[in-house]
Amino acid sequence: MSKAFASQADLQDKQVSFTRLSDHAYAYTAEGDPNTGVIVGDDGVMVLDTQATPVMAEDVIRRIRAVTDKPIRYVLLSHYHAVRVLGASAYGAQEIIASQDTYDLIVERGAQDMQSEIERFPRLFRAVETIPGLTWPTMTFQGRMTVWLGKLEVQLLQLGRGHTKGDTVAWLPQQQILFSGDLVEFGATPYAGDAYFEDWPKTLDAIAALRPNALVPGRGAALTTPEMVQQGLAGTRAFVSDLYASVKAGAAQGKDLRAIYREAHAALKPKYGQWVIFDHCMPFDVTRALDEATSYRDPRIWTAERDKAMWAALES
Ligand SMILES: [Zn+2]
Repeated sequence: MSKAFASQADLQDKQVSFTRLSDHAYAYTAEGDPNTGVIVGDDGVMVLDTQATPVMAEDVIRRIRAVTDKPIRYVLLSHYHAVRVLGASAYGAQEIIASQDTYDLIVERGAQDMQSEIERFPRLFRAVETIPGLTWPTMTFQGRMTVWLGKLEVQLLQLGRGHTKGDTVAWLPQQQILFSGDLVEFGATPYAGDAYFEDWPKTLDAIAALRPNALVPGRGAALTTPEMVQQGLAGTRAFVSDLYASVKAGAAQGKDLRAIYREAHAALKPKYGQWVIFDHCMPFDVTRALDEATSYRDPRIWTAERDKAMWAALES
């Protein structure tokens, strides 16, 4: 029996939560679907990741309007993945902000990624026809940038590579609240098809060094205590490290991708198999891990065709 490709068999809607972390910070989460963060400042709102389509984003806007009537001034793209950025037009923000590295990835592979992700996640691209095209940042930065929402300081930080080359977190230093994007997941499998396995744990160390009291992960429930934050960081680190160690061991023994995949899946399933999108992510994660362990410093571009060919090779 072969598995349905990626998340094509995942068609049941999830329950949305809109969690208040402070006067200024909210998390739109949905049982492991991609999250959206919301920062409410004195004079405006920043949205962190957008949902996959403008129609999906409308539900986020409805929740924002239940807590504030301030204008949505900024959208931050934590990274370039289509499922998080293509709803951006719905917010009517003045500026769409991303790291220069994220901008470069959109130039290099945004179109291929869009087609690939639409086919991977049919449920998350509801009303896909409302997407006006790729989301282009209007403002980019390198390393760090501070945005002031009145007296509220929002630091946008590139703490290192991990989930992608362009990963950006948003940090509220006055409140010790962090929005991590897909660098941290909770009860959801980290997607590592575009990842840097060597760097990811160090980037998690940099997040931990900020000592967040609360953290909004890329997927999964908002982490509302320091203990939960530690759990989220530790779980993500363990998955990334365990997977890479398994793949490197297989590569060192000269095994091929298919054999390495089977071993990694068997090794990780008991500990992580209950996390959402485990079976979706594993083939992509193992393929990238073997690339990084052998001959590709940077992730190769996923296209809809490459997705399907890889899946057929590993799951048939
Ligand atoms: Zn992502």
